[in-house]
Amino acid sequence: MDESILVVNSGSSSVKLALFDKHHQKKASALAERLNKQDAIAHINGSPEPIELPKGANHQQALQILIETFTQKELLKGSPIAIGHRVVHGGETFREAALIDSYTITAIKKVSSLAPLHNPVNLVGIDAMQALFPAVPQVAVFDTAYHQTLPEKAYRYALPKHCYEDWGVRRYGFHGTSHYFMAQEAARLLGKPVDSTSIISAHLGNGCSITAIQYGKSVDTSMGLTPLEGLVMGTRSGDVDPGLFDYLSGRGVRASEVHAMLNNDSGLMGLSGHTNDMRTLCELAEQGDKPAQLAIDVFCFRLARYIGAMTASLTHLDAVVFTGGIGENSAQVRQETIKHLGLLGLEIDPERNQQHGRQTESQVNHADSRFPILVIPTNEELVIARAASRLANA
Ligand code: AMP
Repeated sequence: MDESILVVNSGSSSVKLALFDKHHQKKASALAERLNKQDAIAHINGSPEPIELPKGANHQQALQILIETFTQKELLKGSPIAIGHRVVHGGETFREAALIDSYTITAIKKVSSLAPLHNPVNLVGIDAMQALFPAVPQVAVFDTAYHQTLPEKAYRYALPKHCYEDWGVRRYGFHGTSHYFMAQEAARLLGKPVDSTSIISAHLGNGCSITAIQYGKSVDTSMGLTPLEGLVMGTRSGDVDPGLFDYLSGRGVRASEVHAMLNNDSGLMGLSGHTNDMRTLCELAEQGDKPAQLAIDVFCFRLARYIGAMTASLTHLDAVVFTGGIGENSAQVRQETIKHLGLLGLEIDPERNQQHGRQTESQVNHADSRFPILVIPTNEELVIARAASRLANA
């Protein structure tokens, strides 16, 4: 036993694995993809050779092979001391991470209808690891848990109240692990205790969400019942008029088709007609591609509107924080977004913004900006590893 902590993030056809030492330093990570398909494959990060998986390998087979590889490479010696799992939806049951036992499993299953694409596959990962390491404590870390502090005025929709009471229709919020990490890291950078730090945290990756954090607690967030609401994302529309469903059904488009369109064919992909990759869109826009430029414009404008909206939930603001693949890497998106927010006194420093923010934390605001603007790399795996070792030791 070498006191390693494993972090598991299972998706519908993939699983990501990260291995941390007892000081929470990452030792290795791996990805298995195209699971349950003929061409299933895996990679250990940093190793050029892919790992062959049997045709149609499932989550358990892939995890077993990856763990054998970690063991052969002496990255893992014996069993880990704890295993942390990313679980997307914890409903109203989980306000924080939880040790996995029969109660936790039942509760995760109960809210699966709220995240049918995610919770069932998260449970597949849990099952697989329980089969491989039956004696090791396992911990679930929920994307929704951090947002359970939202006040009712922020989480209720203006729908008939039975929708909430009978069916749990409310705003839950997602990316909680990342927003929680932003609160911790921003407080550290600003030299303040977390419980007196207030920020607006923008997580901009393929999925995007923004959270108002007052004195360390989430008080408002842009994603809702599902991770479709709010900002423009890679392939997700974010906010649209709900009247769209009826309008399109009058044109012969079924609700399931509208749902698929809003999730898979919209956002940056839909607007540009090319790609959901912000890097490519910035290159195309530079070459004069108008739909690519429009996609960037809509993305930044919607984000700026949401930054403005989030100030209504705060009585105090210490910083606006950017994170996620786009937030950390795209100086252009940060600049275009902040340009809309002069009335709030936010001002970016073009030079600092260009030079900084690639996988390193930094401050990119102009000296005259009313509030600091920070770029902080997210690290959801680290949060999960810390929670797993804390609960396993408790
Ligand atoms: P994530 O889901 O956090 O991995 O973020 C994925 C998004 O980050 C994609 O839209 C990428 O195009 C974007 N991204 C990554 N690197 C860059 C970059 N250097 N410039 C602009 N966007 C980037």
